Order: sequence, then C-alpha cells, then structure tokens
Amino acid sequence: MQRRSFLQSALVGGALAALDTSASAAAANGKRPYKLLPCEEAFTIPEILEAARKHARNIPSWASGPIVGPALPLLMDLGEGRLRGMDAAGIDMQILSLGSPGVQNFDVPTAVSLGKLANDRLAAAIKAHPTRFAGLATFAPQDPAAAVKELERCANELKLTGALVNSHTNGEYLDDPKYWPILEALEALNLPLYIHPRDAAPGVAGAAVPGFTVGWGFAVETGTHALRLIGAGIFDRFPKLTIVLGHMGEGIPYFLERIDNRWDFENALFPTSAKLKRKPGEYFRNNFLITTSGMNVAAPLAAAIATVGIDRILFAVDYPFENQPKSVADFDAIALSVEDKRKICETNVRRTFRL
Ligand code: MN
Repeated sequence: MQRRSFLQSALVGGALAALDTSASAAAANGKRPYKLLPCEEAFTIPEILEAARKHARNIPSWASGPIVGPALPLLMDLGEGRLRGMDAAGIDMQILSLGSPGVQNFDVPTAVSLGKLANDRLAAAIKAHPTRFAGLATFAPQDPAAAVKELERCANELKLTGALVNSHTNGEYLDDPKYWPILEALEALNLPLYIHPRDAAPGVAGAAVPGFTVGWGFAVETGTHALRLIGAGIFDRFPKLTIVLGHMGEGIPYFLERIDNRWDFENALFPTSAKLKRKPGEYFRNNFLITTSGMNVAAPLAAAIATVGIDRILFAVDYPFENQPKSVADFDAIALSVEDKRKICETNVRRTFRL
C-alpha cells in the first residue's frame, strides 16, 4: 500500500490531489458525491449467441467470442438481475454495448439483420430503464452502406448516442477508404465510436502469445487500429470524429511521446506517410478519449492523466468480464480528488455520450 502510494506520487508529482478521506468514507457507504456511469459494459442476445455458436461450429476460441461459460447468463440479462448487480456495486447507469466480436464474424445478411435486432433490444432495455441504461449502437462494417443506414436509424429513431466496433472486420481496419462513409456518418451524427478489442487480425496475430492473448494481444490489435486511423489522416478528413479506446488507451498514452518522436524520425528517413497536418499525439489528445475498463489501477491512470488530461478519461468496468464490485472498489481506492473522480465517473461520460 505504501509502495503504491510512493509510486503514485513519484509518477505524477503534484498532478494528483491528495486523497479526500471524506469522499472515500462516503464511497464506502455507497454514497459517492458523484454518479458512477461505466461505459464498456457488455450484453448479448440469444439470437446472436446462436449464430456465433453456429459460425464457430460450437468450438470456443478467442475468435468466436463468448459462446460458452459463466458470463453468458450475465450477458443476456438486460433486466432485473443486471440491475441488482449494479445496485450491489453502486453503479448508477451502465452504458451498454453488444459483446465482442459483435456481428463482425457473420455473412453480410446475417450481420446486418442481427445488428438491427441487437440495437432494437438495446433500445427496448433503455426504454424500460431510462435512468439505468444507455447504449452504443452496433453495426456491420461488412456492408458499409447498410452500416451508415443503421447508424442513422440508431441516432435518429433509437436515440442511441454512440457506436461500437470490435476492431478489425475480416482482417481490415476502418482506415480503408471503403469504410470512410461509416466514419463520415459517425461524425455527421455526432456519434463517438468506441473501438473495442477482439482476437488479433492476421497482420498482428503474433501479438496473441498464448496466455497473453487478452492482456497483450487485444491491446496490440486495438491500439494498431487507432494508430492506423491517425496515420491515414482520418482526423484531417473528419476533424470532429471522436474515438473512445478502453483499457486505459490500449497502451498508447504510455507510448505517446515516443510515437511522436519516432514519427518524425521515421518520416525523415522514409517520407512515405508524413502528410498529416499535425503530430500523431495531437490527434490522440484531441480526437480520442480513453476508459479505465479492466485497468482501474492507480499507476497507469496517473500516467494517462499526465499524458491526455483528466477531461479525456472515462470510467468503465468491462462487465461481466471484470468483477464489477471489485472494479468499483479499486477505483474508489485510487487517490484522486472528488472533482477529478466526478469528471472520470460522471461528467466526462455525460459529455461524451450526451447523457
Ligand atoms: Mn470489453
């Protein structure tokens, strides 16, 4: 405990305010002076589970997504059981999204129709519990034109205020020009895009070292997606596009200075991709938000605050894959002022997803 505190102060110097003991005591009583609105909280529906099992021929793997196991009943509960768990953990509202890999493994007609069904079910759950749930739209990148239509329907009719993609689709990333209409629609509809991990694409498959598939491979896959968007000039073309990354930014904040420094170095040697208006880090600080999903830990949070600023960090649990009460308790135990905790857990989440 003392060592952790020492590391924290060593890492961020004066950037963190002293632990507010009154806030901690209030939190322990379940009465925080701010709301908890975690924003990477998964669900699924029976029809998608069935299609995923069929697609995977009932063989579970990281590519299949959860098709067996203890998470399934939790994923499929969009009602009382989920609400009881939230109450027990002190969660005010979950911002829900379809569990990874969403509909991105399916053939086009299946993906498009199941994506719509998932969005309809999500909207119904929000309508039934408008103070407890909000949600991010799913879509099938396999059919960009249908994806644009579905995003428009989700924003205008279902009133969803964000969208989520599970990184690559058939090994391709959204920097490919064929997906630009999706990015254009997200920007026009003011829908932030959460880029969530999934099994690594063939191009980065070596990062999925057995035993480190999630802890490292997912971050390489998803961080690579983010850097591809920056490197392709997506944020010069769509300057108001907002991207959300989980897991404390998938490693990027930690690397950001080196990313900028070596971008200049590399482009001086091999000037092939240096047509950006700004440095990569400027896009990261302006167009991206990061969340604490699976990473409610003081040291990486301190580094993230020092790198991207308190206003660009959002609280998340990663329910049901992380322990919800433990994640809340872990965040509570981090030494930050009430003002900063309110920003991360409530104000920034409300602003980002217009809640
Ligand atoms: Mn997740």
